[in-house]
Amino acid sequence: MAVLVTGGAGYIGSVAVDDLIDAGEAIVVLDNLSRGHRDAVNDDAAFYQGDIGDAELVIKICREHDVTAVIHFSAFAYVGESVERPDIYYQNNVVQTALLLDAVRECGVRHFVFSSTCATYGEPVAIPIDETHPQNPTNPYGRTKLMVEQMLADHDRAFGVKYVALRYFNACGATEKRFERHDPETHLIPLILDAAEGKRESVSIFGGDYPTPDGTAIRDYIHISDLSLAHLLALRHLQKGGQSDCFNLGNGNGFSVLEVIDAAKRVTSKDVPYKIERRRAGDPSRLIAKADKAASVLGWKPQHPDLESIIDSAWRWRTA
Ligand code: UDP
Repeated sequence: MAVLVTGGAGYIGSVAVDDLIDAGEAIVVLDNLSRGHRDAVNDDAAFYQGDIGDAELVIKICREHDVTAVIHFSAFAYVGESVERPDIYYQNNVVQTALLLDAVRECGVRHFVFSSTCATYGEPVAIPIDETHPQNPTNPYGRTKLMVEQMLADHDRAFGVKYVALRYFNACGATEKRFERHDPETHLIPLILDAAEGKRESVSIFGGDYPTPDGTAIRDYIHISDLSLAHLLALRHLQKGGQSDCFNLGNGNGFSVLEVIDAAKRVTSKDVPYKIERRRAGDPSRLIAKADKAASVLGWKPQHPDLESIIDSAWRWRTA
């Protein structure tokens, strides 16, 4: 018996693979390496390079490894890019996922853990955001993830596929083995650390006129190890016969872009020059999680909630 992890060569998926293996699960990774890194995949995982929409390959993997559950990370995940290239987001995140769902269902897979996002909520009408908050995404990325959540709910009703959708807030930090290396990098914390290292002249702050205390956008930053833990707990929930459900994964603390820059200055003892620029299309002003449901139903409790420690975990990779 094995768990198929799509996108297991990516930033969050690679950490989850490490932790699932430590927890005793047999893991098969399927990743087309369009954004992931082969060397980020744990040596104890079986690895296949290919597309999740390649039904023949997915069916072969499921049969050979007796796959009983899927943890589906692989997706494009840049808000800005999704506004400029919605076509590739709908193709990769929605169409390919529909094909994956059909292929694994044909092989009798009944448990599915899905990487969703707080971007499915859009501009919040209440803070903190709980799972009952309306879902009105402000960008194509969020819409693709919401479509998959809806697809999963329909597959549960029609085929009895049980799923957990995990709505990540802002993933960040590093573990002893894995770190963030997107190409191109668009995420705030690695860009701030690039500036602290002198690898870039300054950080562009996207918007200084948001309705927030300092005018910059507020996010809830959550360590990748804590995200990873939630996948293991979600898998156990399904394995124990738990119902399909959606869970927010965040710390419940919001930090503005300027506050993240200040925290990074304290961690690195370096200057972080910045320029305030125009807002980035598709960005909500404030996203803060209420994650009580993950705590009560899954038993999830973040182990690395402190922002400075999170930034420090990423900084240590650069200074090692
Ligand atoms: N951000 C920014 N400058 C950058 C990158 C990001 O001001 O170079 C802001 C972005 O507008 C958002 C926050 O930082 O408010 C986190 O953005 P990131 O891209 O890291 O994650 P997202 O919220 O898009 O998932």
